Amino acid sequence: MAKRLRAIVDIDNTLWHFCDVLYEELKIINNTIPSPEFWIDWDFWQNYCSIEEFMNAINKIHLNQDDEKHLPYPEAKKFLNTLKREGFHITIASHRSENSRIPTERWLKMHGLYFDELHLSYDKTILFNDNNCFVVDDSPKVLEKAKEKQVQGAGLLFPWNKSHYENGYILLDNLDDILEFLLKKS
Ligand SMILES: [Mg+2]
Repeated sequence: MAKRLRAIVDIDNTLWHFCDVLYEELKIINNTIPSPEFWIDWDFWQNYCSIEEFMNAINKIHLNQDDEKHLPYPEAKKFLNTLKREGFHITIASHRSENSRIPTERWLKMHGLYFDELHLSYDKTILFNDNNCFVVDDSPKVLEKAKEKQVQGAGLLFPWNKSHYENGYILLDNLDDILEFLLKKS
């Protein structure tokens, strides 16, 4: 019998538009920070704030993930439900502290975002261990790692991953297109 397929799905800038909320937080630290359309490099923030300030801004959002203003992309629910229906095991994997598990889980449930497993850590690439898995993530670093491990990667296209386009993984405009791609590939 064929092994069950696994989808390893990111949260920030995959299931919801995290960058705009992060921008609001970063502006409080340094109001000269450019808006997300100019974040053409993954490490853009290094010229504007310290790593502590950057991580604190991110943690603050994650600890309030279940804020009612934090909405998933309109296609997110269907994306996960279709993968479930097609027999995928779904691991939601986010680069965030274990301390944010309760608000993160609450947010997923609040919005009907289905998952079998919730992985929160600072190295999700430990999950990329067999060729039955698909990775959905916007981070070029994570997608590169998937490629290295011969795991199919796909993500939403953003300024910070645009220059990595067609680097062994696919970047698309919305989750509907990613879904279609995954179903074709599986
Ligand atoms: Mg992300």
